[in-house]
Amino acid sequence: KKYNHNTNVFTFAFDDPKAKFNGKTASCVMLRTDVNGKDVVRPYTPISRPNTIGQLEFLIKEYPQGVMSKHVHAMKKGDRIEIKGPMQKYPYEANKFEKLALIAGGTGISPMIQVIEEVISNPDDKTKVTLLFANTTISDILLKEDLDKLAAKHPDRLKVYYTVDKIEDKETKSWKGDFGYVTPDMLKKVLPMPSKKDDESLLVMVCGPPGFMKLISGDKTKDYKQGDLSGLLKGLGFTEKNVFKF
Ligand SMILES: Cc1cc2nc3c(=O)[nH]c(=O)nc-3n(C[C@H](O)[C@H](O)[C@H](O)COP(=O)(O)OP(=O)(O)OC[C@H]3O[C@@H](n4cnc5c(N)ncnc54)[C@H](O)[C@@H]3O)c2cc1C
Repeated sequence: KKYNHNTNVFTFAFDDPKAKFNGKTASCVMLRTDVNGKDVVRPYTPISRPNTIGQLEFLIKEYPQGVMSKHVHAMKKGDRIEIKGPMQKYPYEANKFEKLALIAGGTGISPMIQVIEEVISNPDDKTKVTLLFANTTISDILLKEDLDKLAAKHPDRLKVYYTVDKIEDKETKSWKGDFGYVTPDMLKKVLPMPSKKDDESLLVMVCGPPGFMKLISGDKTKDYKQGDLSGLLKGLGFTEKNVFKF
């Protein structure tokens, strides 16, 4: 199903129509296929709820040079792909933190929506969630309608802020978000800040393309470990204990 100019929603049915993903928040899967004789494997985060029966839904952005994303976008009804998982990236526990700050860039929203839905769907979870979602243009903002609806329905539990790099003149009047790349001032304005070193009441989750990760928190290591914290979050007094990089 077409989502926007470069992103579609893809629904993959399991061989067993009764099978469930059953991934715990926050989990992803690996998609694997053969492209021109080469084995290609990439991680993707389903946007369907973990207990959905018989199928998995993904929101996948096509990159002009992207091997897997181009392959998936060229798939037709009835084509098959190998899916391995679930792989839990972060074991979310209700009420472990008072506040969750989620910082997403582009398709980095997919694990964040899993976390948000997990918190909101549990009335016993008192965690307050704030999302800062950065995109190139307004039309690139994935799941905006869903996010705005959730935030309007749960104003005491979820706050959502947006920033875009580019905006057209005709959009400026109605745009309520921020402009430009994420800055320390923007983070201070919208997100909870640590009140002391290693503040255990607060967790920041970061997910986005490599340049975005570098700016916000520093990217993970080549062998997918969390690595040292750097970037804007370090400058604001966060430590490795407060930050999780997807
Ligand atoms: C845990 C996890 C979950 C993910 N979930 C999703 C998801 O739900 N939906 C989704 O669309 N993607 C998701 N991704 C990104 C996905 O795994 C691939 O990296 C992305 O689809 C590009 O793969 P590719 O083979 O098309 O591009 P590649 O062939 O790997 O790269 C080609 C070029 O595309 C650019 N590129 C690659 N990756 C990115 C990126 N993430 N952002 C910007 N430019 C990039 C680079 O310039 C690169 O040179 C996730 C990544 C991780 C780590």
